[in-house]
Amino acid sequence: MKLLYEGKAKKVYEVDRDKCLIYFKDTATAFDATKKAEVEGKGVLNNTISSIMFKLLEEKGVKTHFIERVSEREMLVWKAERFDLEVVIRNITAGSICKRLGFREGEKLRKPLVEFFYKNDHLHDPLICVEHAILLRIADKKTLRDIVKIALKVNTILKRFFKSHGLLLVDFKLEFGRLPDGALAVIDEISPDTCRLWDAKTGEKLDKDRFRFDLGDLLEGYRRVLERVQGG
Ligand code: UDP
Repeated sequence: MKLLYEGKAKKVYEVDRDKCLIYFKDTATAFDATKKAEVEGKGVLNNTISSIMFKLLEEKGVKTHFIERVSEREMLVWKAERFDLEVVIRNITAGSICKRLGFREGEKLRKPLVEFFYKNDHLHDPLICVEHAILLRIADKKTLRDIVKIALKVNTILKRFFKSHGLLLVDFKLEFGRLPDGALAVIDEISPDTCRLWDAKTGEKLDKDRFRFDLGDLLEGYRRVLERVQGG
């Protein structure tokens, strides 16, 4: 299979005109990849957790690129034309919004906040507004409006789902693309690499912040997320 793209945590292969295979690696990176490590087994956990999340979204009527999980580390997906956009949805303050705007970590936001970041390695993924996204021709106004609508729907679904499994969805990142049939869809992955998840009772961090700030065994956190979402 032809390798189409290799990122920090995944490789994407072309299967045919309409489909791709995503391979989940064990590489963990943070702070613009200045911190990097191999965490054996992370790829398996992220593929498994992402597959559960995409299935849940599909069941709830959200279009995604997901077709099926074909092996421990591989997911078959529809080929999508990706928007150069990282869409972050926040329920509770953490991470860059604290650094940028001076929030204390852990403040519940009055309503979910949607932020756009320009997916551009050279520029280090800067925060942008809708007008920037339009001027940069990342997407048109209508598409951006649809993306916000879908992002908020995904937030409602995931927040409720995680809550029912004893987890707080603090914030997360989504990526979007157009499927071969032209539909707007959620793509990439939904995993503890891309979501902040806290234990609802103890507040313990079970996501990539464990790696970012050396808070404890990364895999242990991800394993506990998987156990929870599998109903354990
Ligand atoms: N996020 C991500 N990829 C990125 C940047 C952020 O998956 O390139 C996720 C991150 O894990 C968190 C949310 O998006 O769940 C918000 O991230 P934030 O803007 O706070 O940046 P951070 O300080 O985490 O890099």
